[in-house]
Amino acid sequence: MSQGDLELFLAARDEKPFHARQVLQWIYQRDVSDFDEMTDLSKSLRARLKEDATITPPEVQSRHDGEDGCVKWLFSSGFGQAVETVFIPEADRGTLCISSQVGCALDCSFCATGAQGFNRNLTSAEIIGQVRHAIRELPRRENGEPAISNVVFMGMGEPLANYRSIVPVLDLLVSDYSYGLSRRRVTVSTSGIVPHIDKLSKDCNVALAVSLHAPNDELRDSIVPINKLHPISTLLDACWRYAADHSNRFITFEYVMLRGVNDSLEHANQLATLLKGKPAKVNLIPFNPFSGTEFLRSSAETIRHFQERLRKRGLVATTRKTRGDDIDAACGQLAGKVSDRVKTRLGRKKVGQKLHENKDIRMSSI
Ligand code: SAH
Ligand code: SF4
Repeated sequence: MSQGDLELFLAARDEKPFHARQVLQWIYQRDVSDFDEMTDLSKSLRARLKEDATITPPEVQSRHDGEDGCVKWLFSSGFGQAVETVFIPEADRGTLCISSQVGCALDCSFCATGAQGFNRNLTSAEIIGQVRHAIRELPRRENGEPAISNVVFMGMGEPLANYRSIVPVLDLLVSDYSYGLSRRRVTVSTSGIVPHIDKLSKDCNVALAVSLHAPNDELRDSIVPINKLHPISTLLDACWRYAADHSNRFITFEYVMLRGVNDSLEHANQLATLLKGKPAKVNLIPFNPFSGTEFLRSSAETIRHFQERLRKRGLVATTRKTRGDDIDAACGQLAGKVSDRVKTRLGRKKVGQKLHENKDIRMSSI
């Protein structure tokens, strides 16, 4: 529950709404999971909460530590399936990449999560539980700051297709009574569910990343199918509205580099024309291959040339470093554990298992 929801919950029980702040602080700042330990609440309120509410941490299936400091957790999501959460430490920040759905219905052709199909939405509790668990396990930085400074919805699933669950989570991430993260350090990544971009703009002032991946509709239709519903011009209009609503803060456009598909200099020119003069920055993502995919990663040289062309044409452009390769934690590789009973685009075999069997196809970071 967000602070607002918790206040309503308390009011409906004839309790003072301000107790919501105390409860949030106990859960998220003092990591308490037992109402009896919330000693500044009256005994009767504690008893009431125990009767009507639960604080249930997600069930951890496994933890994997990478050589580069990345950590991946697998959380059970029922029926033999799991979702993944990844921590990526860097010199100046620590980013937690969280999942919002078990699988994804949007079926982007280069994505391991899309290949497993859609199973179900995660609840708000299952999503914020990923953050709470990671904070509990990660030591503070050397300078005493918390390990996690940034949270990105770039794990499994399409967050804007699970809108009702993510809004309370965003609230908890930024609220002073829970994690108090800066709004600029919480990023929702979407493949472009336009009506919900507009909704998000009204409901939560957080950073927005958009998975563009192609500079024209013909190509984007073929690799990001939601484009057929919300084509590029409609999507970009929503992006500029979002930016305008938030003091023209930059929107990040993610662009996965697929060899021979979307990585030519002509594509870079088209992309520059689309974004020139707008509050936009481009983040090139080297494609992370997984077994069964027909795509290949663009060469390091192609990616460099593409980035240079964007910069020459006046755009801010960076290339994402691939991290967590040794623990299958790289972007787009989060497939979780797929039950044999689930029909997937890659056939009936477990996607997670296939990834594991094909470690040799993974390339080192550029
Ligand atoms: N559904 C949301 C967020 C999760 S995916 C979205 O699509 O934005 C996070 C990012 O990883 C997206 O930009 C997605 O396109 C990208 N991605 C998916 N599969 C990938 C792969 N195999 N290699 C590199 N990036 C990938
Ligand atoms: Fe879903 Fe994002 Fe993967 Fe597309 S890239 S299938 S929207 S998780």
